[in-house]
Amino acid sequence: MSENFEKELGFQTRAIHAGNAVSTETGAIERPITLANSYILPYDASEMNWSAPDVNIYTRNGGANQRYLQEKIASLEGGEDCVVLASGVAALSGLFFALLKSGDHVIFSSVTYIAVYRLFNELFNNKFNVETTIVDTSDLEAVKAAIKPNTKLIHIETPGNPTLGISDIRALAKIAHDNGILLSVDNTFASPMNQRPIELGADFSIESLTKYINGHGDAMGGSITGKKEYLDKIRYESQVNLGGTISPFNAWLIMRGAVTFPLRMKKHNENALAVAKFLKTVKGVSFVAYPGLEGHKGKDIADSQMENGYGGVLSFGLKADHDTYNRFVSHLKVITSAVSLGHAGSLIVFLGEDDERMYLYPEEFHNGFLRFSVGIEDVEDIIADLTQAFEKENLI
Ligand SMILES: *Cc1c(COP(=O)(O)O)cnc(C)c1O
Repeated sequence: MSENFEKELGFQTRAIHAGNAVSTETGAIERPITLANSYILPYDASEMNWSAPDVNIYTRNGGANQRYLQEKIASLEGGEDCVVLASGVAALSGLFFALLKSGDHVIFSSVTYIAVYRLFNELFNNKFNVETTIVDTSDLEAVKAAIKPNTKLIHIETPGNPTLGISDIRALAKIAHDNGILLSVDNTFASPMNQRPIELGADFSIESLTKYINGHGDAMGGSITGKKEYLDKIRYESQVNLGGTISPFNAWLIMRGAVTFPLRMKKHNENALAVAKFLKTVKGVSFVAYPGLEGHKGKDIADSQMENGYGGVLSFGLKADHDTYNRFVSHLKVITSAVSLGHAGSLIVFLGEDDERMYLYPEEFHNGFLRFSVGIEDVEDIIADLTQAFEKENLI
């Protein structure tokens, strides 16, 4: 599909068609899976760059299904270029590895995915002498105050996992760029259907494709979308040399899942808002964190940067002890006790009191809480399932 034609198409249309084409070999109207590790070399390979990621030579450098998926994600994110890797964490670490060097300083938000916390709080600083500062990035003055002459990158997550805290992407992009700093946004909780960081001014949008974009809970992947000049560097430095390449089969599965992603996301948004409102009425619920609820600290900013809804994940607490939390989860029948999020099925996880990042979370999270990825089942069934579990523990 030509780029100009594509720009005029709607989001659901691009989710279906971007990155797809008629197979020139067979005439099939869906691109096939190409499982080969290697591709044919030119007549005289001696003059070729063996590490080139821009031609198909060897699947770690780049393969057919990976390129199709990159086209689709770049289109959905509204970005110039995209690199897809084996997982969300491969995308995050690939980005950081390519951008940062010893002596640089990074500001990262107080609520980030656990691997980001460990990469910045333990690995990059202890092993590679990269300075890191944790900042509550919903507080713009605190971000400005943390900037140093060697600050290279601000990395945020909004909504943040698992507190659902919101940071202002437009304002942070301005602060970053006024100071010659790059801004990367982990967009996994929102997904590009609800929020497109690049259009809001960020330099990079990162997705765990494992979550909403694949949506079926059966493949892992991650993407980095941004300007070509940086993504070329990420391909050369991180993809080829760190080797976190996505398998062709997983790229194909995610490509297939992405076709229905906007439809599914619409339902996740609707169901999560309805469940959040329901939970607010339950007497045994101590708090509900969801940016779509009136009274959520970040709602105004969420409204200004999230387009179609607030995503499918919420966190809530029970007026209950540790054992009651576990029993409550064990009563659920439609909702499954499992990590991950963005699957069609509802998933819940009890995050106990011993999370190493608890000191960074708001007070109400400190006695343990449930992170709930609201699925796309009939919402009445989700609410009925919660209700019977609340009843068994006398919480409703
Ligand atoms: C799951 C998740 C990741 C990591 O993605 P994987 O595909 O599991 O490696 C990163 N960021 C956020 C916000 C996530 O929820």
